[in-house]
Amino acid sequence: MMRERLLAYVYYWQINGKGSHGLLRDQDYLKTTCWLATHAGSELKALPEVAEFMAACRDAYGGESYERYLRQRDRCTVCGESYKVENVSYCVECHMRYCARCRGDIQRDGHGGYLCDCGGQVVG
Ligand SMILES: [Zn+2]
Ligand SMILES: [Zn+2]
Repeated sequence: MMRERLLAYVYYWQINGKGSHGLLRDQDYLKTTCWLATHAGSELKALPEVAEFMAACRDAYGGESYERYLRQRDRCTVCGESYKVENVSYCVECHMRYCARCRGDIQRDGHGGYLCDCGGQVVG
């Protein structure tokens, strides 16, 4: 699950001296940032160690390289159309990717978010 995975990333980063090793970038950074902004991620977002870790990721990879990543293209796994990454939504638990139109057809989570068939939160 996203929660356990993120805590494992944070712990790994801490025991390795809080260097650049183990920081999230590109798709992992996107999924995690967006997930933390959802209802499901709100509990972890409040943890200081998570905030510190995400700030380190942002400092390392949140600038120009992340902007470049967002402008790349990715394909909706449902309809097969290609879109810019910034317009694609990602399941945090599996490899499903949704364009805005196909995302409209999936389940809602009751908190303004979307759920993949696998049960994972769909973010971005
Ligand atoms: Zn689609
Ligand atoms: Zn999924």
